[in-house]
Amino acid sequence: MTTNLQNAIEKSRRIKMSVRYLGSRAYLVITPAKHEYVVRFENDSKGLRYGRCTCKAGAKRLACYHLPKAALVDTAIQTISH
Ligand SMILES: [Zn+2]
Repeated sequence: MTTNLQNAIEKSRRIKMSVRYLGSRAYLVITPAKHEYVVRFENDSKGLRYGRCTCKAGAKRLACYHLPKAALVDTAIQTISH
């Protein structure tokens, strides 16, 4: 796990964000500053999960703190639906 990703996870725990499920494994993440980003997940052929976020960091393929937050909800939904 990279330091960037660890920092992103830590930040996602500190900051209170709300997550709404949009369907098709897409999630709307709303930050305390009312910024809205869409995180999408998909699994590759090996079943590994990939996420993409529409924020600036996400556009550069960097770990952002919206992704871990949405991942928690995605995990819950995947667990329920399986
Ligand atoms: Zn993001």
